[in-house]
Amino acid sequence: MKVAIVGAGPAGTLTSLNLSEKAEIVIFEAKQSPGFPVKCGGLISEDCFKELKKYCKVERSLINKIRGAFFISPSGKYAEVAGKTGSAVIERKILDSMLLKEAGKIADIRMKSRVFEISENTIKIVSQKEKYSEAFDAVIGADGAESIVAKELGFERPEIFSGKQYLMEFEAIQKDMVELYFGKRYSDGFFGYAIPLSEDVARVGVVSRENPSQYLERLIDEHPSVSERIGRSVFEVNSGAIPIGLINFVMGNAVLIGDAAGMVKPYTGGGIYYLLKAAEMLGEFFPDLRKFRQTYMSRLSREYTVGERIRRLYDILDTKDYDTLVEIAREIDFSEVHMDRPSTALSALPKIFKMVKNVSLASKMVRAFFQFQ
Ligand SMILES: Cc1cc2nc3c(=O)[nH]c(=O)nc-3n(C[C@H](O)[C@H](O)[C@H](O)COP(=O)(O)OP(=O)(O)OC[C@H]3O[C@@H](n4cnc5c(N)ncnc54)[C@H](O)[C@@H]3O)c2cc1C
Repeated sequence: MKVAIVGAGPAGTLTSLNLSEKAEIVIFEAKQSPGFPVKCGGLISEDCFKELKKYCKVERSLINKIRGAFFISPSGKYAEVAGKTGSAVIERKILDSMLLKEAGKIADIRMKSRVFEISENTIKIVSQKEKYSEAFDAVIGADGAESIVAKELGFERPEIFSGKQYLMEFEAIQKDMVELYFGKRYSDGFFGYAIPLSEDVARVGVVSRENPSQYLERLIDEHPSVSERIGRSVFEVNSGAIPIGLINFVMGNAVLIGDAAGMVKPYTGGGIYYLLKAAEMLGEFFPDLRKFRQTYMSRLSREYTVGERIRRLYDILDTKDYDTLVEIAREIDFSEVHMDRPSTALSALPKIFKMVKNVSLASKMVRAFFQFQ
């Protein structure tokens, strides 16, 4: 069976590595090197990091180890939260190129080859200004948030948020803690963050429905906790799309995987873990794409649903609400909460509701968690 994978990011390479025994694979990649320019904070859970060891020497990409997060309100109040596992800060350029090298051992990889049209299972490619077409038994769209495979084949599209991030001088509260900055002043529908690489260098960014640049400047210039810890040097600027909302990712002999399918945690924007799970399940069930979809949904749809309900809070909470929740969070035991599985946080909800004395905040939380939209 001959399979085309469009895109050599982690979704494309991990999928090829999981399909190697079942198909003859050709990967088409538009760029000269995937993973560059970087569009990622590089934060993944310890479990995800360990699972990636099956595919490459992921420890080579490790920059820092993280044990938890500070949840910070717009007024600067914060709670320290440490879940079930820690996380790792990795360098995506290194991870993506190691995965590409491994994929190259089992697949025909065609770099600088952009897919521009697809009809049925014939795809059209432009490479070095030459156009050609080729037929495949199945097409896998691993071509990111702006997926051409999805557009050409008429898949629905997720909502697109945007991320902008500086690699910059920044004095972390603690080197092994990420910082999350909530509030509508710093993002439309999401949050800002700092991911430390060392004591004084971090990836400082904002994910937002719109205008991440404007919110990032405001975070850096005005946030009571951030502005005084920012240094002068910016070493790198990265930005990219973040698709929020898993869509139906199987149609006929075509399947979408990774950002192309909205396989991103709706409450953090992290995509690596959910696409890794998808690549493994696709490998397990291929060529039965319906079974793949069914299994992925039965194992993960609850996580997407709970994740989206958490994200709804970012649209409706105000500064006072965050101040209250940060105080409550200090009293809650998060030790069983897993960053990749938001459903593990649900057991804390009754206690949180009990501690919320403010009726308006309680009703916002009911709206986010229990009302269908
Ligand atoms: C600012 C920001 C911060 C983030 N931080 C994190 C984080 O900390 N942790 C985390 O887990 N996730 C994070 N993410 C999300 C993560 O980067 C993505 O989920 C992940 O890169 C998705 O991988 P992918 O392979 O699906 O897509 P991509 O990495 O986008 O790869 C798609 C590939 O397809 C190629 N392509 C596109 N169109 C074509 C075409 N027509 N023909 C051929 N090739 C094509 C592209 O060149 C690209 O190489 C972040 C994203 C952003 C924007």
